[in-house]
Amino acid sequence: MKPIDLRSDTVTKPSKGMLQAMMTAEVGDDVYHEDPTVKKLEAMLATQTGMEAAIFAPSGTQSNLIGLMSHCERGDEYIVGQTAHTYRWEGGGAAVLGSIQPQPLDFENDGSLNLDKVSLAIKPLDAHYARSKLFCLENTVQGKVLPKSYLDSIRPFCETHSLKSHLDGARIFNAVVKLNLSLQAICCNFDSISICLSKGLGAPVGSVLCGSNEFILKAHRWRKVLGGGMRQAGILAAAGIYALEHNIERLAEDHDNATYLASQLASIDEIHLPDVEQIQTNMLRIQVKDHYPELQKHLKSRGIILPPQADKAGAVRLVTHLDVTRDDVITVVREIKTFFTQFG
Ligand SMILES: *Cc1c(COP(=O)(O)O)cnc(C)c1O
Repeated sequence: MKPIDLRSDTVTKPSKGMLQAMMTAEVGDDVYHEDPTVKKLEAMLATQTGMEAAIFAPSGTQSNLIGLMSHCERGDEYIVGQTAHTYRWEGGGAAVLGSIQPQPLDFENDGSLNLDKVSLAIKPLDAHYARSKLFCLENTVQGKVLPKSYLDSIRPFCETHSLKSHLDGARIFNAVVKLNLSLQAICCNFDSISICLSKGLGAPVGSVLCGSNEFILKAHRWRKVLGGGMRQAGILAAAGIYALEHNIERLAEDHDNATYLASQLASIDEIHLPDVEQIQTNMLRIQVKDHYPELQKHLKSRGIILPPQADKAGAVRLVTHLDVTRDDVITVVREIKTFFTQFG
């Protein structure tokens, strides 16, 4: 039986069509710039983002780090969300490996950073301070889509304050599909963007960093330094190209499944959905008042995988993706209901 894994959209397995594309990919040594399939993937995303160039990296963590290190020098600072991936979930890489100081700020409810608060955090040019250099955002951010009007305020804001801007667009295509905008309409507000192919798009590996020619030239150097120069990487890039060609529009199904799952779970007394109104893409948070470990164990015995532990608020994140069908969602709801009848 195929498991129904709701922990993350990173758990997908490559489809037959994707594997076929990988098997037949034309390859070369990408460190020598000789892999035609990597070049094709980079060119596709450079075009779609409206940026000059792109570079393929093994992970989103590395792609973001290459981005930060290409924008910032030692002693520079990036302004970032307190719970942003590029601050909280990347092992402190920017500080550890890039000598770049983070200036974290709390996200607003909608996942934006309030620009008035950002301006207050920008440091004056003075030897006492790190140099505020870069403004980082994330989209989608905890499943939420940054509003277009907010995105459009970013470039003018950064120009006024002489900041560069980077978007962690690990799940940017979920925002593209949700807002029904082109990728370029979102990216035109940023100097660089990092895009994951291995989340909802279903590729096994890979992220792409896009930006200006000058920026990507620096990125090439940092990617090599960080150990991300890969050789016949066209095998992986082929999976990414396949994902871009087949798996973008269908993200709407994941969004529908998340909304449907939330609406069904909301009718169960033992489950609380703290931000049910804010479910916009493929993620939802549930709080299970009691018995979460038993519930998780029960579901596991039925092939349904939930995060092993709830956070301090008793909440867990559930994520829909291309290996979860509507029938799977119906099964999950049924099994959760069955579990709680024993306490009813
Ligand atoms: C997953 C993710 C990344 C990159 O993660 P990798 O696992 O290193 O590919 C970056 N930002 C966000 C918001 C993510 O969810």
